[in-house]
Amino acid sequence: MSASANLGRMFMDEMHGRGPSKSMADQLADIKELQSKVSGIVLSNNSFSARNGINLSRGDVANLAGRWTALFVGKACDLECKFCPQPPKPSLEDDIVNKTGVTTSFNHVGSLDEISIVVGKACIDNRIDAVGISGGEPLLYLDRIARVLEFIKTMSPNTYVYLYTNGTKLNQGTAKELASFGIDEVRIDLAASNFSKLSLKALENASSWFPRVVVESPSLKDTFEKFSKHKCKIVDSGIQQINLCEMVINKYNAHHYVNEPYYIFNPYRKGGGMELDYEHFDKIESFDRLVPTWSRPQAYRVMDMFSDVRSRLTIHDISQGVHFKSEAPF
Ligand code: SF4
Repeated sequence: MSASANLGRMFMDEMHGRGPSKSMADQLADIKELQSKVSGIVLSNNSFSARNGINLSRGDVANLAGRWTALFVGKACDLECKFCPQPPKPSLEDDIVNKTGVTTSFNHVGSLDEISIVVGKACIDNRIDAVGISGGEPLLYLDRIARVLEFIKTMSPNTYVYLYTNGTKLNQGTAKELASFGIDEVRIDLAASNFSKLSLKALENASSWFPRVVVESPSLKDTFEKFSKHKCKIVDSGIQQINLCEMVINKYNAHHYVNEPYYIFNPYRKGGGMELDYEHFDKIESFDRLVPTWSRPQAYRVMDMFSDVRSRLTIHDISQGVHFKSEAPF
């Protein structure tokens, strides 16, 4: 085990030793209370997801239905976010030279061409409706994105393909290339660069470059304050949706969150929302996820703040529960 993984394990043990601040049942009851206060809210996936607004991306519709996959085109990234749940990143050079491979969110691992075929086949077989291209920072791998998109769009033109980015490399040049590949949507994580000038500039122009633009950021402790500070810019940019994702603490980021209150999310535990049956019995422990209690409530503060523009900008709360699927779609 590497030194950083060891350190992560130590913090995780310490957090478990300290014990959760709240039970999952109490946390979910608090979230339901927050949901009950939003007029016109739309709940889905057993309240693990909720939105205020009329318009949801085809990517999220597919995700909520379990008909979606993420495709991680490379592991390198130009940022080091405190909240990043991914293992330490290789340099771009190492990643490319060593061909560390491409993966999907359903644990397929292989070369770019092998994974493109697996995903392309799932699209043709009508098992998935959308593919989210992710990394690392995927814009470091424009040539890979071009190949994946060409492959998927040729095999299955109706598959909705979108891209996650931290926004720092999104400029007129990269946008032009991306748009020429036929990307349907771009999702900018403003929190990754701490709402940097570069990512806000990208956001300002993105709606003129792509058919659809979404802000997708983790729900962090200062999320409400940050979105409040930049609300005018975000609304004026003309984007249609903000996704706020419940954060998870794991061995890679735990050392930043060791004193934070948390609860253990596990849908297979009593009160977790999914039926606890024999099939899931062995998953009770292994599916434990440590989640800060302050994360998901931030989304409801942001929903309230943006409620005056809900007819054109949807705020979407995505909890850890959305990521638990009973079975992989391919
Ligand atoms: S931008 Fe994304 S991949 Fe890169 S460090 Fe931040 S969270 Fe991790």
